Amino acid sequence: MTGRIGHGWDRHRLEAGRPMVLGGVAIDEAPAGPVGHSDGDAVLHALTDALLGAAARGDIGEHFPDTDDAHRGAPSDVFVRRAMGLVIQAGFRVVNADLTVLLENPRLSPFREAIRSRVAGLLQVPPERVSVKAKTGEGVGPVGRGEAIDAHAVVLLEES
Ligand code: MG
Repeated sequence: MTGRIGHGWDRHRLEAGRPMVLGGVAIDEAPAGPVGHSDGDAVLHALTDALLGAAARGDIGEHFPDTDDAHRGAPSDVFVRRAMGLVIQAGFRVVNADLTVLLENPRLSPFREAIRSRVAGLLQVPPERVSVKAKTGEGVGPVGRGEAIDAHAVVLLEES
């Protein structure tokens, strides 16, 4: 198999009282949510960049500029769907995805399975091919102080 690996990273500043969506799933218990042009879903933004990176098709800012009002408040699954369109057009399919979220509050374990199945649907793979890992910032740095959420994504593509 000819594999293509891609990596994506995203950070959003958090503000109290804003809604938080991660991997397309509403995180109801979050004390703060992301500031962003779209819905600020750091997981799906990192995933979009990982897909674009694996296909060597640029980055999320190039495809979806934050000067474009069409994406204001947009659910971020739109970005993943568009990146998947480019992946498929380039002759690839997803093998697996590994996601890591860095967030101080709340604990994400109650949301993990919902995020896995939502992301799997977007990537057109079974949930067993999607890993969602969560860490805190250990109380230090912007994540640890609750000022930001970070997300990392790695995807592997194979020729379809
Ligand atoms: Mg973002």
